Amino acid sequence: MSEQLQATVVVHGGAGGSRDQDDGCRFAARTGRDRLAGGASALEGAVAACVALEDDGRYNAGSGAVLCLDGHTIEMDAAVMDSQGALGAVACIQRVKNPVLVAQAITRTPHWLLAGEGAERFARTAGFPIHHQISERQRAKHERLMATLGSREPATPGVANRAFADYWNYDTPRVFNPCDTVGAVTRAADGTFAVACSTGGSAPSLLGRVGDTPIIGSGFYAGPDGAVAVTGIGEHIVRRLLAYTVYGWIAGGMPVDEAIRRGVDLFPREIDVGVIAVSRTETGMHSNREMPCAVVSAGDA
Ligand code: ASP
Repeated sequence: MSEQLQATVVVHGGAGGSRDQDDGCRFAARTGRDRLAGGASALEGAVAACVALEDDGRYNAGSGAVLCLDGHTIEMDAAVMDSQGALGAVACIQRVKNPVLVAQAITRTPHWLLAGEGAERFARTAGFPIHHQISERQRAKHERLMATLGSREPATPGVANRAFADYWNYDTPRVFNPCDTVGAVTRAADGTFAVACSTGGSAPSLLGRVGDTPIIGSGFYAGPDGAVAVTGIGEHIVRRLLAYTVYGWIAGGMPVDEAIRRGVDLFPREIDVGVIAVSRTETGMHSNREMPCAVVSAGDA
């Protein structure tokens, strides 16, 4: 008989977000916890929490995903993984409402990651309808970004604004969005773990840019000792394989809080980074920026 652990869901709404958005995280964590209580797997619980965050509209994922520099395209990344071998991800997918559900559907294919047009075609084959809606919030953010790109203030720390003009690869004439992804990690009562994460990417970025979110070991990892989800500037996170590094420390016996703080401390202060994690007995959330987040366990209100 398998041992019974306390079912728990930890979620984040992105490094650089606002704690005013914790209510959406609490709702998402409760949604995941209720699914676990109803007998869903760790993976189904993590995906349910992530869908709630994608549908919220205030986070940079799904309905709230950032606009690309052309002011029209939305490219999204998402991934899922559990401790029983399920693995699926999408990169640069357009015109779907819930990229994390497409990532979950990919776990049933012979592949683990589909990108771009192929990912969108797969989504249609799997029954996901066309969805392209630009939120007012993202439209306003885009206008602010355009203003910053046209100024002397760098829109991305350490990157000259003109780099985006020099390498412009959109169809539209060259014109002149910050991070806040979502993620959920779960521990089911049967001792299995899962992670689901989803993002509209970082902005500004060139067309086709992929960050850490759909890259195993960078933006996410789940195994027999826990699950980890990461948020922040993907170009920096992938170089440190952050999710797998933190997972390895937890698997080696380091307390969760120490592991995630050590992970965040690998980065200079000007780089946004946040990590959430769950192990057999602990949970943790830490970021070097404000980061909306929540943890809900079986028995919590
Ligand atoms: N990590 C995401 C990316 O670089 C953005 C974020 O977490 O806010 O695409």
